[in-house]
Amino acid sequence: QALAYNCPAGTFAERVVLVTGAGDGIGRAVALALADAGATVVLLGRTQNKLEEVYDEILKRGGAKPAMVPVNLEVATPAHFEELAGMFDKEFGRLDGLLHNASVLGDITPLDNYGYSTWDSVMQVNVNAAFYLTRAMLPLLRSASAASVLFTSSSVGRVGRAFWGAYAVSKFATEGLMQVMADELENTSKIRVNTINPGGTRTRMRAQAYPGEDANTLRTPEDIVPAYLYLLGPASDGVTGQAFNAQPPR
Ligand code: NDP
Repeated sequence: QALAYNCPAGTFAERVVLVTGAGDGIGRAVALALADAGATVVLLGRTQNKLEEVYDEILKRGGAKPAMVPVNLEVATPAHFEELAGMFDKEFGRLDGLLHNASVLGDITPLDNYGYSTWDSVMQVNVNAAFYLTRAMLPLLRSASAASVLFTSSSVGRVGRAFWGAYAVSKFATEGLMQVMADELENTSKIRVNTINPGGTRTRMRAQAYPGEDANTLRTPEDIVPAYLYLLGPASDGVTGQAFNAQPPR
């Protein structure tokens, strides 16, 4: 159902959706697809000129005027996210979707050698910042008639694998955060919370993890967008606490 989802035009009209890591890879493709489906997209990412490029592309395609939020998730503090929530409250008054997509890979190396500072920065970007952002946005998510929070997982966040270090552990933590939050909110709010594992996808991060691989054998970010639109939009109303895949196992 999620994989074959064909998002009808206008599905996201009047909806505000925040995408982290929106300047590149999967986040960029999902942000563009959301805008094509009518969403007002808030583009959060580290590199301003990448965000500007996505912003311009959305306008060029006739999408609703997006918002741009350049933030380095490695150094942003809870206070920073609270301030952001205050700005969104003034501007939009609610948030209908939140896609946690930004992540860093860290090193692929045995734990014996795993760098302490690399460990800390992976956990900071992939887990802590996602918690800070989610917590700060909860009041805005509660103001939406039905909101979707979608965390990005990985195959190594569901079954551990040698050498994947902090990245794998951060994705297990992401699954945990999703489950705790979904359990807290079930029956008491209209906010649903799920994870998505994109599966091997042709991006910079994938090339970093598998330098020898022929990228042409991989699905593109555009190929896996349907499951994201399904989970972020009204098609998945009521679906919560679940771990999804964006493509069939290879
Ligand atoms: P990319 O590296 O192409 O994109 C990652 C995005 O996250 C970039 O836009 C990057 O910004 C942003 N980002 C990284 N660090 C920070 C930071 N400190 N502050 C703000 N933004 C940051 O990766 P993918 O598109 O491949 O990955 C997207 C998600 O999918 C990730 O969560 C990843 O773990 C997951 N995933 C990907 C798979 C794949 O095969 N591609 C497989 C399984 C999971 P900038 O461009 O400015 O650096």
